[in-house]
Amino acid sequence: MIPVVKPYLPSREKLDKYLDGIYERAWLTNNGPLVQELTARLEEYLGVENLLLVANGTLALQVAYRALGVSGNENGEQQEAITTPFTFIATASSLKWDGVQPVFADIDPNTWCISPENIEQAITSNTKAIVPVHVFGNACDVEAIDEIARRHGLKVIYDASHAFAVQYKGESLLKHGDASTLSFHATKLFHTGEGGAIIFRRKEDLERAKKMINFGITGPESIGEVGINAKMNELQAAMGLCVLDEMAENLTARADVWQRYQEALGNAVQLQAKGHALSYNYAYFPIVFNSEKQAVHVAAALKENGVLARRYFYPSLNSVECFEAKADQSVSKDIASRILCLPIFSELTEINLAQITDIISDSLGGRSHD
Ligand SMILES: *Cc1c(COP(=O)(O)O)cnc(C)c1O
Repeated sequence: MIPVVKPYLPSREKLDKYLDGIYERAWLTNNGPLVQELTARLEEYLGVENLLLVANGTLALQVAYRALGVSGNENGEQQEAITTPFTFIATASSLKWDGVQPVFADIDPNTWCISPENIEQAITSNTKAIVPVHVFGNACDVEAIDEIARRHGLKVIYDASHAFAVQYKGESLLKHGDASTLSFHATKLFHTGEGGAIIFRRKEDLERAKKMINFGITGPESIGEVGINAKMNELQAAMGLCVLDEMAENLTARADVWQRYQEALGNAVQLQAKGHALSYNYAYFPIVFNSEKQAVHVAAALKENGVLARRYFYPSLNSVECFEAKADQSVSKDIASRILCLPIFSELTEINLAQITDIISDSLGGRSHD
């Protein structure tokens, strides 16, 4: 089976050297030297400041909300955050887990990111924050969102899990909002096995979050506010340092796969419309068909031939009962019903991609008259 994603495995010899160092120092966690080194190298690579490594991308979101004062109740009122229904479940479940009600605003039918007009309409007196997602590495309308947030006094936390290394107008996309979060899960473009990071706009928020991820401990015998354990460990950092060293090769291989898909399928299916002045990271290759029937049919044809395409992100989160969505976000529901993500990872350059694109073209052709 060709999977939809495959963890990138860096040089084993290099990883072994880092492991030797960990054994010599016997320092496995609590802001060790490899975590410090990875922090500095990622800040440089991404072109950002105030980066905090954490244990995973979900905790990155939860710690970012808390550090920015977005949590549960305030004066007895249930707090709300406006987010997109077209995302991985963790974006919304992390809010709910922290006692904040996610309120969905529908997406743009072309970029598939949350639409600023719909955000504006969803704002109530209980809205505390906006949590947009740069879905599949495409940039949200960051200027419009930052402006709405300023006008209404809201915090903005971008779930940038898909936007590693994406540049917008010549700068890191991660510089927008009060914070941006990354996931370094094994299947993400850059990974540490499990892991994540928060990029804060302000240093004081970073300092608060640093204590929060270590139980709220402020000194050997003192505790500040309530915290959690969200620390990255040295083994995760060692993997990250090795993956980062090979990022250029990984990106080149993915770009090649991405372009070959685009050439073969670009005219037959809908692709995501990318914002202007945006560099892309080739992390995903999502395609949208004319109907749900067609998407399901193509997925089945691929599976019969040993290729797993996945329905990301299906179902649209406004259809998931536990979120108690009030309105029907019809654009998100519609795109979610017709989308498939095709396999994309660096080793795919070694197989004949035409095998995959021919199956898709054939099953589209065979169905064109129904
Ligand atoms: C992967 C992902 C997450 C969760 O990250 P983990 O590291 O798996 O906890 C959150 N949001 C989005 C959009 C993701 O794709």
